[in-house]
Amino acid sequence: MSKKTHFHADRVEGMGMTIFSEITQLAQEYNAINLGQGFPDFDGPLEIKRIAMESIASGNNQYAPMIGAHTLRRAIARHQSRFYFHEIDPDREITVTTGATEALLSTLLAFINPGDEVIVFEPCYDSYVPVIRMAGGIPVPVTLHEPLFKFNHHELREAFSAKTKAIIINTPHNPTGTMFSQLELGFIADVCQEFDALAIMDEVYEHIGFDPAGHIQMRSLPDMKHRTITISSLGKSFSFTGWKIGWVIAPEELQIPIRNIHQYTVFSTATPFQGAAAAALDLPDSYFQQLVNMYQDKRDFLAHALSSAGLYPIIPQGAYFIMADTSEYPFPNMKSFTNWLIKEIGIACIPSTGFYLRPERAGNYVRFCFCKSNQVLETAAERLHKLQT
Ligand code: PMP
Ligand code: GLN
Repeated sequence: MSKKTHFHADRVEGMGMTIFSEITQLAQEYNAINLGQGFPDFDGPLEIKRIAMESIASGNNQYAPMIGAHTLRRAIARHQSRFYFHEIDPDREITVTTGATEALLSTLLAFINPGDEVIVFEPCYDSYVPVIRMAGGIPVPVTLHEPLFKFNHHELREAFSAKTKAIIINTPHNPTGTMFSQLELGFIADVCQEFDALAIMDEVYEHIGFDPAGHIQMRSLPDMKHRTITISSLGKSFSFTGWKIGWVIAPEELQIPIRNIHQYTVFSTATPFQGAAAAALDLPDSYFQQLVNMYQDKRDFLAHALSSAGLYPIIPQGAYFIMADTSEYPFPNMKSFTNWLIKEIGIACIPSTGFYLRPERAGNYVRFCFCKSNQVLETAAERLHKLQT
C-alpha cells in the first residue's frame, strides 16, 4: 500500500491491504495453490454467461434503474417465495446493489449514527468492522467459541446496551461454516426486540448449506420482519463472484434510507449482468441441489486431506471454508504458519487472526477454502501429504 500523506482522511487510519489480497499476492509470488481468498476457480452455468454476453451485444449497456432492473427485482422476489415462502414487493422492498459489499455499506451508512454500537460475531468477514467505523459506529464483538463456533447466550445479551443499533449476522458463516439454528436466531431476535435493534443478515452463502435443518431466515421469525435487513448476492450461489450483483431485502420504511445512500454512492449496478442474474435465480431446483452436492464432496475431500496432515478441521455446516487447527505445528503465530505453508509446502490459507477484532482470541486456526476444481484440490492434497509424519 502507498505511504501515508497529510492528505489522508482520519477514517483510513489503520486500514491496510485486506488479508485476502495480501495472501493472494504471496501465493502468486511463491506459485502456491491459493486456498486463501475465497473465490471459485470455475465459472457458473454457461447458459447464464450467454445471457450476459448477448445482453452486451444487443446494446443493453446504459445505466440500469437506480433500484435495479425490474426483471431482476421480480426474480429476487420469486426466489424468496420459492425457497422461503416469503412474498416480497419487488418495487418497494428490494434494491439491487454492487454485491453484498455495497449492500452492507449502504445499510450501515443508512442507519448508523456516530457513537451507535453494532454487534458483530467474531471471527467475522473482514469488511464489517471497517464499514461500521466508516459510518461512525462502534463495533462490539461477541465471540463464536471453538470448536463448534457457537455464541454464548449470556455474552451476547451482555453485549447489547441502550446504544446498540444493530447486530450483523452472517449465516452460513464465513469463516467458520456455522449455520445459525432457529433456536439461536430466536434468542437473538428476542434480544433485538428488547433493545430495539436492527438485525442485518448477510446470507451470501444461503445456497451452500450442508445442515439438514437448512438455511433459516431471521425475517421469518415472529415480529422480526420490520427490523430485519436481508443481504445476499449472486457471487457464491452461481460462481460469478466478479459480477458483483447483490441485493437488499427490507420493508419499505427501511429500504428508503438504504436507497438514499445507494443512489449517491454507486447510483446503479452493471446493467448487462442484471438480466443474467435474474435467469440464474430462476434456475431449477436441481441446479441448487447439485451445487450443494458438489461442495459437500469438496468439503469432505479437503477435510480428509487436512486431518491426515494433522491440521484438524472443524467440519463446516455451510459456506466453502474450513477452519483447521494448527496446534500440532510449532509456530509462534498463525501468520508465521501461513507464510511457511505458502513458501515451503505451496499452499495458501488465511490466518484466522485476520477475522478477529481481538486477534488474541483467534486460537490456532487457519482458514482454507474448498471452492476449487477437483484437480486443484487433489494437488493440494498431494502437497499436504508431505506433512504427514
Ligand atoms: N459477506 C461475506 C460473508 C462474504 O464472504 C462475502 C464474499 N466476499 C461478501 C459478504 C461480499 O459479497 P460480494 O462479493 O457479493 O460483494
Ligand atoms: N469472500 C472472500 C473470502 O472471504 C473474499 C472476498 C475479498 O477478497 N474481498 O475469502
